[in-house]
Amino acid sequence: MRASTYPLVDADEAAAVVLERVPVLGVEQVHLREAWGRVLAEDLAGDAPLPPFPSSAVDGYAVRAADAGKTLRVLGESAAGRPFDGTVAPGAAARILTGGVLPDGADCVVMVEDVRLSGDQVTVPSKLVSGSNFHAAGADLKPGDLILKAGTELGAAEIGIAAATNRAQLPVRRRPRVAVMSTGDELFEVGSTGRRGQIPDSNRWALLAALREAGADVEVLGIAPDEAEALRRFVSDALARIDALVTSGGVSVGTHDLVKPLLESLGTVHIGRVKLKPGKPFTFATLAGGKVAFGLPGFPVSSLVTFEVFVRPALRKMQGFAQLHRPALPVRLAYDAKPTAERTEYQRVTLRREGKELLADTTGSQSSSRLMSLAGAHALVKVPAGNEVLKAGTIVEAMILSLPA
Ligand code: AMP
Ligand code: MG
Repeated sequence: MRASTYPLVDADEAAAVVLERVPVLGVEQVHLREAWGRVLAEDLAGDAPLPPFPSSAVDGYAVRAADAGKTLRVLGESAAGRPFDGTVAPGAAARILTGGVLPDGADCVVMVEDVRLSGDQVTVPSKLVSGSNFHAAGADLKPGDLILKAGTELGAAEIGIAAATNRAQLPVRRRPRVAVMSTGDELFEVGSTGRRGQIPDSNRWALLAALREAGADVEVLGIAPDEAEALRRFVSDALARIDALVTSGGVSVGTHDLVKPLLESLGTVHIGRVKLKPGKPFTFATLAGGKVAFGLPGFPVSSLVTFEVFVRPALRKMQGFAQLHRPALPVRLAYDAKPTAERTEYQRVTLRREGKELLADTTGSQSSSRLMSLAGAHALVKVPAGNEVLKAGTIVEAMILSLPA
């Protein structure tokens, strides 16, 4: 073992350094079929009214409100997509169907349930309100209205509105291409059989899922041995193709921990140790060509917690998300939380509702090797560095992963 030369950086400061150093990726046009989950790169403004014409909300008769109580002659029909071209003059009506264009002259629609029909004559109620039962042109959107803001994630409603305004392509930020590499002689491929002393490479799969959730395009480099030259070969081949490298293991100060020296040789290491538990050896570097590298610790919980704290917000910045972080909410501890003296600790908890509050229960042993502490966790409770136990009942900030029912 050797002592680390890297200063211990405050966890929030380290997160700020990472975010500051990470680039925002370029813009590409994608078809709506590819747009789900992408991030809009520019504000989208309407260039035409929506609906584009006054559109009936019901099946009924298009009339003049001034003709209330009268028996009117039905001149024709305006069905969806088949407008009536004439004018509804005083004393006249046109049959209209949902989505049909309100004919010229008419200023309201009477529901079919409210009229009496006899041959081509229709008797309308004695009270009619001008403007009722149809959507005016531009009622939903006027030309020039802001439809969607840059930084918006495109979900079903956002894609729907883009389609409704007749846009087939949208400008979105490029997804980060990320290579993920596991390091360690103790690892074997999940599904194969290891030698004595070996364990399955579980981090690869956990990180692959986390990376996908964060919007990355992932390339798996596999398991690199604890050997400097082999490590370099694994990475150097991929560097040309990627925006970011995510490694697990090999960043602590054991003699087999070779990721930091590798990143130093490829670029500049900005963060080499963090006042964070779990995740003290977290490493961040910038590489040539605007690329970045995240060296995550090997312990499974440490790698996922440092992913949440540092990598996910960074990948979201790369994609232009307006919202980089998970929601932070105050929660009330339902257990005594023991802090760590010099390090911010993210403790894994489940949440339950009690009245208007969220109560946090510990997921049990918080060992950084115990992935069961993270499986099913609703939140990471942020326990500031200190010596005083935070008693049950204390309100703390939590990074919300999901909310209980
Ligand atoms: P390291 O950060 O390389 O010192 O790794 C710390 C510990 O994390 C190792 O002793 C392993 O038990 C575990 N570990 C490292 N890499 C992985 C991995 N890819 N999958 C599962 N566990 C790992
Ligand atoms: Mg290792």
